[in-house]
Amino acid sequence: MLVTSINLFAFLGKRLLIDCCKNDWHTAVINSDRCHHYSLFKSLLNVEKYLTLDINIKYKIALARFRLANHKLNIELGRHYGLRKDDRVCLYCQQNQIHVIDCEYHAFFQCPKYDILRHSFLFNWYVNGTSIHDFYNLLTSPDTNIIKNVALYVYHLINAIETI
Ligand SMILES: [Zn+2]
Repeated sequence: MLVTSINLFAFLGKRLLIDCCKNDWHTAVINSDRCHHYSLFKSLLNVEKYLTLDINIKYKIALARFRLANHKLNIELGRHYGLRKDDRVCLYCQQNQIHVIDCEYHAFFQCPKYDILRHSFLFNWYVNGTSIHDFYNLLTSPDTNIIKNVALYVYHLINAIETI
């Protein structure tokens, strides 16, 4: 009887500690200046499915970097230079008098600078919408084929972002 109570107490204590850690992590992600989109497509403290799939490591790395804002889009570079979020614009679009934040969503679906890549690696299989909601759906999809296709596109996208 005593052993059962101790085990139950240990179980509940461990569970409470895990819940507190998860809450702290979630609060930190939501309040982070860095994780512009990440907080909206990473809601659980768990291993992402794309990390467990049998796909080329370079695609996994590219997808992880893109999701974690480890890239050279101005939303991230501007943060390093202390620019306000509204000033972290896409310089390519700004040449055409379009003032838009240079973020992951803009690069993924909108920026004409990456049109060729988008048509070669995204719109050759993806036929749905291009809203921010669609962006989050693609980045959180549990479908193995979608994950693989997104990873391939993001690999080419992130290479273009860093070389163009
Ligand atoms: Zn642009």
